[in-house]
Amino acid sequence: MTDKRDYYDILGVARDAATADIKLAYRKLALKHHPDRVGESEKKSAEEKFKKISEAYAVLSDPQKRQQYDRFGHEGIDSRYSTEDIFRGADFGDFADILRSAFGSGAAGFGSFGGGRGRGGAQAGQDIETRMVITLEEAFTGTEKEITYSRAKKCDACGGSGAKPGTKASTCPLCRGRGVVTEGSFIFSMQRPCPECGGRGQIIKQKCPSCAGHGLVKKKENLKVKVPKGVLSGTSLRVKEKGYESPQGIAGNLYVLIEVLPHKDFERREGELYTKIEIPFPVAVLGGTIKAQAINKTVQMKIPPHCPDGQVFRLRGYGMPRLNAAYSGDLFVTVVIHVPKKVPSKAKKLLEDYMTIMEEEQKPFYKNLFE
Ligand SMILES: [Zn+2]
Ligand SMILES: [Zn+2]
Repeated sequence: MTDKRDYYDILGVARDAATADIKLAYRKLALKHHPDRVGESEKKSAEEKFKKISEAYAVLSDPQKRQQYDRFGHEGIDSRYSTEDIFRGADFGDFADILRSAFGSGAAGFGSFGGGRGRGGAQAGQDIETRMVITLEEAFTGTEKEITYSRAKKCDACGGSGAKPGTKASTCPLCRGRGVVTEGSFIFSMQRPCPECGGRGQIIKQKCPSCAGHGLVKKKENLKVKVPKGVLSGTSLRVKEKGYESPQGIAGNLYVLIEVLPHKDFERREGELYTKIEIPFPVAVLGGTIKAQAINKTVQMKIPPHCPDGQVFRLRGYGMPRLNAAYSGDLFVTVVIHVPKKVPSKAKKLLEDYMTIMEEEQKPFYKNLFE
């Protein structure tokens, strides 16, 4: 079998490609040539291509097989691994990933069919997401807030069966209660939700009036959610088993997406905080100690003499707490020299005297400006 194409060529990778790159190349090609993604007329050739790609990947992604292939070529491989063996042994974790992305759905996308984690064969309900808006102060200290959200819960009236109380659902004749049907050939067989029963495995003749046969009802729920200090905007907090319930009463997870509001005085960049402080001109010249505002307290800040406008001071540990860490970021304070709008005449006189003295003292500077 020496007329076979080189595995590296098939995947379009270099002979010294890293495993991660091989995986990437495989995913791209597998998506492109997946038989379920092409028209009926191209199915046969896509299947052939897909087989070759998968075979090349199965060998090159396995360090031992790859070494063997590098040394002996196809001879080193063929006698030991038929395509079918390769398929049996292939990494189906990857394969499932690819199928998921191929059909454009995340874990929840399969809905009641494939989404959740099973427990004893039963499916968990969908994961859901809700939002919580908090202030920067709340992100600083951490907080606990109550949220209200709607959630699908198992219908109590029918116990989730969807059948009118007093009646019974019967086992679906098409899928025999499995809820899924298998389609396709040996290699490309795929399970799909049963079209007859919609994946429930049961046929309901008389629907439960409380849930219209779905086995689920929507309910408003209040829930206290703990938000850790240092939380960043965009963080998703997982609350276990507070998502939708399946008709079997097994709940998916709730994800609470945190939005931290902007603050009028502080700008945040992860653990660092940025703020500005105005200081009087004489303090900038002579130096002094001023009170600066950190987020939860005032801090004594020393201004050295001859402090220029725009100087940035770093106050270590006065920034935001780091999530799940025992330390905090820093606070950066930019000094802005305050220019008063109103000046009493006595102060005005002093400033004019100041100018006269400085004109003598710093002649070239003043000359450049005024003459
Ligand atoms: Zn019901
Ligand atoms: Zn069925």
